[in-house]
Amino acid sequence: MLYRSKHLQKKDGEEYIINGTKKYITNAPYADVFLVMAKTNPDIDGSKGISSFLVDSNLSGIEIGETPKMLGQKGSVSPEVYFKNCRVNKDALLGEKEGEGLKPALRGINHARLHVAGTCVGQAKRLIKESILFANNRIQFNKPISQMASVQNLISDSYSEMLAAEALTLSAAKKFDKGIIPETEISSAKYYASEMVSKVADRSLQIMGGAGYLEDNVITRFYRDTRLFRLYEGTSQIQQRNIARKIIKEI
Ligand SMILES: Cc1cc2nc3c(=O)[nH]c(=O)nc-3n(C[C@H](O)[C@H](O)[C@H](O)COP(=O)(O)OP(=O)(O)OC[C@H]3O[C@@H](n4cnc5c(N)ncnc54)[C@H](O)[C@@H]3O)c2cc1C
Repeated sequence: MLYRSKHLQKKDGEEYIINGTKKYITNAPYADVFLVMAKTNPDIDGSKGISSFLVDSNLSGIEIGETPKMLGQKGSVSPEVYFKNCRVNKDALLGEKEGEGLKPALRGINHARLHVAGTCVGQAKRLIKESILFANNRIQFNKPISQMASVQNLISDSYSEMLAAEALTLSAAKKFDKGIIPETEISSAKYYASEMVSKVADRSLQIMGGAGYLEDNVITRFYRDTRLFRLYEGTSQIQQRNIARKIIKEI
């Protein structure tokens, strides 16, 4: 559970007093602990002024807002979390030193981005399978639509892009497992895989024709659900920015 606040957090003896609001916190009502990133030194620009805290979600001063209705991913909820003069003991400081909070939290963000990339690959595989099953059974002009070149092109584009995303994700994940955090590679995997699965969902729906647009079709749910992957854990534009900033310096 990740929570970020731009608001200044005051220190009062052994405690920090946290104030601020964070929108869209996945499954906030079910969380036991929040990872909170908060500005503890307003005089320092950038990451050095930010600290991370592991905060017990039952502390007084924490409130959870209404559950907004979402386009997809309806198995989860993403309400706002409010911190109102929430007193957090200094033991909750991640990394033990004030202002050093972004480093351990970044490991979590990179892990989450890899997780999203892997999920996108998995969902693309399912979408491709469902669309092939449909295309093999749907007869038009006396033959299954899977025998038609234009439908085959949709399937082969999806399959090739899925394999590329899988290779990119596995390459980054193997490095991560060895303790290296290949941030640019992870951003590339998250960016490519999330854009890929949206395209695969769109092609799969297209293969199903009118049936793909019906609410009770599994593809329709994937079509809505996959859209979120291009937004959370850093939008596609933020991943592009991360990638470009790094490689511009290196080449
Ligand atoms: C369902 C859901 C669940 C979520 N769960 C969590 C969670 O558990 N924890 C958590 O911390 N967050 C969570 N989020 C937040 C999510 O990570 C953010 O919504 C996302 O990072 C985009 O931020 P934003 O909504 O403020 O959009 P904005 O930052 O306002 O972006 C709007 C547009 O501007 C573009 N943009 C913004 N800045 C730049 C830039 N510097 N360069 C180029 N383009 C830019 C974006 O790409 C986007 O197109 C969740 C969001 C949703 C929708």
